[in-house]
Amino acid sequence: MAEKCFPLSVEQLELLTREFPTPFHIYDEAAIRKNARALKAAFTWNQGFKEYFAVKAAPNPFLMKILKSEGFGADCSSLPELLLAAETGISGEEIIFTSNDTPAAEFKKAAELGAIINLDDISHIDFLERTAGIPELICCRYNPGRLKDGNVIIGHPEEAKYGFTREQLVEGYRILRDKGVKRFGLHTMVASNELNGGYFVETADILFDLVAEISKTLGITFEFVNIGGGIGIPYQPEQEPVDLNAVGTGIRKLYEEKIAGAGLPALDLRMECGRMITGPFGWLVSRVLHRKSTYKEYVGLDACMANLMRPALYGAYHHITVPAKEQLPHNFICDVTGSLCENNDKFAIDRALPPVETGDLVVIHDAGAHGHAMGFNYNGKLRSAELLLRETGKVVKIRRAETPADYFATLDFEALKNFDA
Ligand SMILES: *Cc1c(COP(=O)(O)O)cnc(C)c1O
Repeated sequence: MAEKCFPLSVEQLELLTREFPTPFHIYDEAAIRKNARALKAAFTWNQGFKEYFAVKAAPNPFLMKILKSEGFGADCSSLPELLLAAETGISGEEIIFTSNDTPAAEFKKAAELGAIINLDDISHIDFLERTAGIPELICCRYNPGRLKDGNVIIGHPEEAKYGFTREQLVEGYRILRDKGVKRFGLHTMVASNELNGGYFVETADILFDLVAEISKTLGITFEFVNIGGGIGIPYQPEQEPVDLNAVGTGIRKLYEEKIAGAGLPALDLRMECGRMITGPFGWLVSRVLHRKSTYKEYVGLDACMANLMRPALYGAYHHITVPAKEQLPHNFICDVTGSLCENNDKFAIDRALPPVETGDLVVIHDAGAHGHAMGFNYNGKLRSAELLLRETGKVVKIRRAETPADYFATLDFEALKNFDA
């Protein structure tokens, strides 16, 4: 059982909402740091182990700065994400740029920052050479196709748009070698929200075999393999988190056999998880605006799918608690909704909650990754603030809520006045 906790008492939470109106996302610094250390501890056997936090999961520079202080880099896949990493003081090879269908300006920026460029396609070699030049260190993304079963979110690898085929990979490294590249990395990512730790051991296995084979065929040396992100979190209370130590031990065994045991040079293990780093340590806090009884019972919140889209997008489960009423029987069956004019704007359907009233505070769990980040403005909905519970117990604002002025920032009302319709 994964325990669904929240770091503040009912009283502390009520007090907090006087200073910071709901809805807001709140993250727990101490828990994020503890988790970051647990991940590193599982891979201490690998000297060059490094996690590059997938910025898209929680693109907040305050969180990124905390993670940088724990030794993490940044995995970026767009120009603004690169700029965010740079603003945070994450630079050079602390950044891996894993993009696809990449615009030239993004390769240029990545090269300018000295980021590790991870190519998604063999045709990008020429494109990169023309736009930013070929760097000394480069990584290629492998798509194992039928070699591996995909999982639900990312799908079957042969249906996925990402990466090189095996033949293209060998050819790609050959071309890069001949163009003067000296340092090489190999990447793949074939899972998303995967709770079976064996999956990541298997991914490392595939990459170790490839490193051995391609090193021999082409006479090149690999510095690292990056097994991607995708480690899942137990959204449902009855699920179990991935046993990181078991993953670490499993990969170590393969490393000792296939890399160290085969006399290959030391290889750094890299990862680019987002979800498992911050997901369980961020919550969406919202207040009940309305109760409605029609053909069903509805609990209407002051948050909506613009604050957390996963339930509407994937039918994903997010645990919901009503802190002041957790001791009461959970026998009130309701849909928990937002105010967006789309019927899928529901955080939960037929959920058993304690008897909820207008004005109750509600906590939506596991919203710390792919939560605020997926926010959008459809229907004039504004993104909420982000707060951080510091290790000292103090709460600080790390992003203000949007205002209508933000929503209108891309419009020119002066031009509208002079516009004849
Ligand atoms: C989304 C993504 C990640 C992070 O995935 P999580 O499920 O958040 O761990 C890492 N790498 C790449 C290339 C991605 O697209």
